[in-house]
Amino acid sequence: ITILGLESSCDDTAAGVVRLVGNQPEILSSVVEGQTDLHAAFGGVVPEIAARAHAEKIDTCVEQALSDAGVALADLDAVAVTAGPGLIGGVLAGVMCAKAISAAAGLPLIGVNHLAGHALTPRLTDGLSFPYLMLLVSGGHCQFLLVRGVEDFTRLGGTIDDAPGEAFDKTAKLLGLPQPGGPSVEARAAEGKSARFAFPRPLLDRPGVDLSFSGLKTALLRARDGVVAEKGGLTEQDRADLCAGFQAAVVDVLSAKSARALDLYLDEAPAQPAFAVAGGVAANRAIRAALEQVAAERGVRFLAPPLSLCTDNAAMIAWAGIERFRLGLRDDLSLSARPRWPLDRRSAPMLGAGK
Ligand code: ATP
Ligand code: FE
Repeated sequence: ITILGLESSCDDTAAGVVRLVGNQPEILSSVVEGQTDLHAAFGGVVPEIAARAHAEKIDTCVEQALSDAGVALADLDAVAVTAGPGLIGGVLAGVMCAKAISAAAGLPLIGVNHLAGHALTPRLTDGLSFPYLMLLVSGGHCQFLLVRGVEDFTRLGGTIDDAPGEAFDKTAKLLGLPQPGGPSVEARAAEGKSARFAFPRPLLDRPGVDLSFSGLKTALLRARDGVVAEKGGLTEQDRADLCAGFQAAVVDVLSAKSARALDLYLDEAPAQPAFAVAGGVAANRAIRAALEQVAAERGVRFLAPPLSLCTDNAAMIAWAGIERFRLGLRDDLSLSARPRWPLDRRSAPMLGAGK
């Protein structure tokens, strides 16, 4: 099975080709065109600019992906595309392109949920079997997913406000450090003393696996203003200590909630227990090490796919397309773009209660 995938739900335009031979998947190509520079001046992704850029770039991304893979349209079995959730203009650009390819080349069309793309990636990279636990942790998301099947996801819990990546970015901004904030805050944190400032550990006292990060942002702002009021400005050491305190709080919260999510997951007695992370924040070494330890303490295998496959890309969409294709799941030209599309349509009231 050979499938072309398209992704355009946020600020990356991407196309990729994945082939499955027997049980062995291979990424034949993965082209990602970022838009960071287009949005830099606005301090965030501007939906209209993103949509236009996707529409302009998607064709060349597809051509590049096909030529990198050394395949022609005639070699494909289907075209898969992110149909949501995301910025609607961008999603539409990808869906229209995929429909055009599907109609012109007579290929089946497969709509993929972007979050399912992230969540199924460990099966592409490591052949994980169901059920496994997934923590999706990025600039836009933070949620624990119990992945039981290609279409069977249970959201155990997640952030009730900001995503951690957003909090890292905001922290960098408040301290005058370069964007994206994650890497710059991580680098400063390594030089700092985390104990100097007291940051809260939001929601740790509450049951369940929900998280909150907006309070950390406020705490950072207060701590910064406290230092500025006292000394008239920030030294490099102040910045490093603030970063270290902030990061330590994120690490504590993520590991405590991961421990609870793992306990819920282990209640299902999975045969080969595994805990995978995805998303840009999974690049953080302190976070990774903490999560790995929480998993190891419970005898659970820990996986963090390579960063290029953890952040937005189209190989994961092509792979999700293959997963759906082999189950006989297809869409047609009536496929619509969905700005909102929760993975988990069922609620899971029993999960999280009392833990
Ligand atoms: P999504 O894909 O969920 O829509 P996104 O495109 O913002 O959101 P990613 O590209 O997966 O997410 O990740 C980007 C985020 O990851 C940024 O907020 C960035 O600060 C954060 N990040 C990157 N590296 C690190 C790091 N070393 N430590 C912490 N955060 C990091
Ligand atoms: Fe994403």
